Amino acid sequence: MRLGALEAGGTKMVCSIGDEAGHVFSRVSYPTLTPAETMPHLISFFQNEGIEALGVASFGPVDLHKGSKTYGYITSTPKPGWMDYPFLPELRAALNVPCGFDTDVNAAAIAEHRMGAAKGLSSCLYVTVGTGIGGGIVAENKIVHGLTHPEFGHFWLRPHPDDPTPHGFCPFHDGCLEGMANGPAIMKRWGKPAQELPPDHPAWALESYYLAQMCATAVVVLSPEKIILGGGVMQQEHLFPLVRKKTQKMLNGYVRTPAILDDIDNYIVAPGLGINSGVTGALLLAAEALEK
Ligand code: ADP
Ligand code: ZN
Repeated sequence: MRLGALEAGGTKMVCSIGDEAGHVFSRVSYPTLTPAETMPHLISFFQNEGIEALGVASFGPVDLHKGSKTYGYITSTPKPGWMDYPFLPELRAALNVPCGFDTDVNAAAIAEHRMGAAKGLSSCLYVTVGTGIGGGIVAENKIVHGLTHPEFGHFWLRPHPDDPTPHGFCPFHDGCLEGMANGPAIMKRWGKPAQELPPDHPAWALESYYLAQMCATAVVVLSPEKIILGGGVMQQEHLFPLVRKKTQKMLNGYVRTPAILDDIDNYIVAPGLGINSGVTGALLLAAEALEK
């Protein structure tokens, strides 16, 4: 089967072709501008590839309720032009193939659970730290949707006393995880893009402090068997040991499991599928849509 996968991110749209087993054959990316500028690229890419189904793994918030009039819409994003945008309806109308749809992080969590770092486990948490911060949760072998979908980037953190910008930059919340620790927050706090800050820059002590609060909170709230951290900011590999150590320190021996006490290097990990978690998840969504 020839399936299309679209991983729609805040910075870039990754279009891929692959198969129902999640094999990725090709990847092309386009910058995320306004829908009027970006949609024609996505549509012509998939039209030229002759796909049988499309899976869309989208930045959010999105409407995931199948019966809703706004199913497949982007809802309350601050991103210019994308608020209340009928993303899935527009793609479906143009391509006329079965389409699967979920959040980018849910798709990545599904893929990491099925064939990546959490293969063989019944639960995991996948978090992307990029333009936004979001998390997908697999519990008892099922992706969690619930009321809408989890908004893992928007819980409140305890600011570090040395943080020069302790309120963060989320337009909705004072001091939420995304507003404190996404790529743009690092850029605004330190005046330089995250990728240009050297490993000994104070940005990383602060970043790992916030990501460790996230991991420690996830451990006590969700008890996932694996925490997988992806997204552009996690390309800074030196963050992993910092986050692991601080997570252990914050939990302070309370959660007595070898995964955390003795083997945290294999508990908080990078994606098993590398940069392909999202597109692989989108391929799995496409395969499911075709089956239905
Ligand atoms: P998206 O969120 O659009 O899917 P990314 O996950 O690549 O895309 O996130 C982009 C953000 O990650 C930007 O804020 C950028 O500064 C940051 N980023 C990208 N690459 C790196 C890197 N190598 N090191 C640190 N930060 C990075
Ligand atoms: Zn927020």
